[in-house]
Amino acid sequence: MKLPECSTCSYQFKWKELSIFSRRKKCPQCGNFQYITTHSGWKIGAIGVVAAFLLIFIRIYSFYWSLFLGTLFFIVFIAIVPYYIELTDEEQPLF
Ligand SMILES: [Zn+2]
Repeated sequence: MKLPECSTCSYQFKWKELSIFSRRKKCPQCGNFQYITTHSGWKIGAIGVVAAFLLIFIRIYSFYWSLFLGTLFFIVFIAIVPYYIELTDEEQPLF
């Protein structure tokens, strides 16, 4: 797995510079704004939806298990999401 690069200057972003909470990132090397591609945004969304469904399913059986797994999923999700991000220098529509 590899972290995304700036589409303008090929600067490789660091893990802590990427977050799923903003679609726009500023490249620390060239200063250009980078946007998460619609395609990779959907991929990340799909992982979240699958995890949510699993949790709802587990919740039927055990509240504490779903709480535990929910926390675990969240940590793993935050940890792996930057590797799925693809960047582009122009803002793409959400759909
Ligand atoms: Zn750059």
